[in-house]
Amino acid sequence: MVKKSIIDKIRNKSGFICDMDGVIYHGDKILDGVKEFVSWLKSENKKFVFLTNSSERTIKELQGKLFRMGLDVGPEHFYTSALATAAFLQSQKANGSAYIIGEAGLINALYNAGYSSNNIDPDYVVMGEARSYSYEVIEKAVNLVNHGARLVGTNPDLTGPKENGISPATKALISPIELATGKQAYFVGKPNPLMMRIALKRLGVKREDTIIIGDRMDTDIVAGIEAEIDTCLVLSGISTEKTIDEFAYHPHYVIQGVNEIVKNYK
Ligand SMILES: [Mg+2]
Repeated sequence: MVKKSIIDKIRNKSGFICDMDGVIYHGDKILDGVKEFVSWLKSENKKFVFLTNSSERTIKELQGKLFRMGLDVGPEHFYTSALATAAFLQSQKANGSAYIIGEAGLINALYNAGYSSNNIDPDYVVMGEARSYSYEVIEKAVNLVNHGARLVGTNPDLTGPKENGISPATKALISPIELATGKQAYFVGKPNPLMMRIALKRLGVKREDTIIIGDRMDTDIVAGIEAEIDTCLVLSGISTEKTIDEFAYHPHYVIQGVNEIVKNYK
């Protein structure tokens, strides 16, 4: 049982940045106590955002996924590495163009940020999780980068969770382009603290009043530490107590899952 004083500190925050996989659900299965946790966030008027490094899905698709699990959450409560990448590119070069390798989540985010698609002389080659991945696409990207397009990846994840296995994620897919061009991609998603800063700005809460809840030491927790936001590791995902010892930093709080924030609370 976690001490009540720790749970109190978490409950007293006014902003919550929650990772999704391993915190809210695992694959297509909602985790214990999540419904109660989301109800509590709403009834206490907390500011909250569900943050994911995956750039594949649009906000509507993420919203639909949670809705099928019985969670009714408005679109303003989601943020993805695709949206962060679009915000980053817009700040670097407004209304630029990109050769986009990715799915609806990334394509929509870039279009909505004023970017256009360009496979002749784009400012950027932008890559996210892509099912439309082929030799021709990689060949195209390599030559565009060699001709001056900047290489940007939505997130540095090597793999993503998949039922009965894993799927290769952005960093694994972008590596051939890096190897062939000798250029390093810039990644916007976690652990880049930029992702947390942009999310914080959208939340409109001071970082001191905010907490990041996540299941990965190498993305969620380090991003929080580098953005100077309190962190809470949940053991409902990929990490165990032992995982913490493998890193030079530690989370501010460790709990079994978000159910501890609301269940049996007296
Ligand atoms: Mg996670």
